[in-house]
Amino acid sequence: MFLDVDGTLLEFAHQPDAVQTGTSLPIILDQLVERLGGALALVSGRTVEDLDKIFFPRCFPAAGQHGFERRDASGTLHRADVAHALEDIRPQLKTFSDGHMGALLEDKGSALALHYRQAPGLKSEALELVQRLTADRDELHYLAGKMVYEIKSRMVNKGVAIACFMEESPFAGRLPIFIGDDVTDEDGFRFVNQEGGLSIRVGDACGSVAQFGVPNVQSVLGWLHDVAKNLDEGKQ
Ligand SMILES: [Mg+2]
Repeated sequence: MFLDVDGTLLEFAHQPDAVQTGTSLPIILDQLVERLGGALALVSGRTVEDLDKIFFPRCFPAAGQHGFERRDASGTLHRADVAHALEDIRPQLKTFSDGHMGALLEDKGSALALHYRQAPGLKSEALELVQRLTADRDELHYLAGKMVYEIKSRMVNKGVAIACFMEESPFAGRLPIFIGDDVTDEDGFRFVNQEGGLSIRVGDACGSVAQFGVPNVQSVLGWLHDVAKNLDEGKQ
C-alpha cells in the first residue's frame, strides 16, 4: 500500500507546513500497518523528515521528495544520486518568490517548488519563469501541480520509488496499491498498472492513467478504514 500525503491523506493548508493529521488518520494508518504486515509506505513530495514531523511519533517507510530520498522498511535511508542540476536556477526562483507577494519557494533539495496558492494571479508569470528556466535543460523538467510548479530531475519520480520498495520485504510479492491526487503521482500509477496493481486518483481524474477515482480526502480515509476493517475480519 503506497500513499501520497498532501491532497490524498491530508487536506491542503495555506502553508505547506500547516497541515494537520486530525485524530482518525493516525489510527487508520496504524491499523493498516499492522494488518498489512508493515507493507505501507508514504510516497510524497515532502522530505522524509517533514513526513516524520507530521506523523510523529510514527516513522513509516517513506519516499520523500518524489523518490529522491527513500527510507526502506528496515529504516535505512537511500538517496538518489542527482547532479546539482537545480543549483543554477535556484537563485532566479528565489528572486521571483521574494519579489512577488504570495509566491513561495519551497526548496526540497531534489526539487524546487514555486507555490502561488496565495496569489493565483501569478500563475502565468510563474509558468513563464519555469518554462524559461527548464527550456534548454534536458536533465530538468517541470510539473504543474495544484497552485504550484515543481522543477525536478527526470531521474527521480514516484514510480521509481515504488518500484524500489516492491523489490524489498515486506512489499515484494504483493500487488501494489497507490493512491495519489496530483500529476506528480502519475508515474506511480503507471508503475502500479504495469504490475497489475490498483491505482486510485483523488479528485479530478481527467487525463489520469489511474484505474479508479475517488472524490476527496474524506473518501480516501473512508476507503482505507474499510480496507483495514475487512483485512481484520479476513484474519479471524
Ligand atoms: Mg498530493
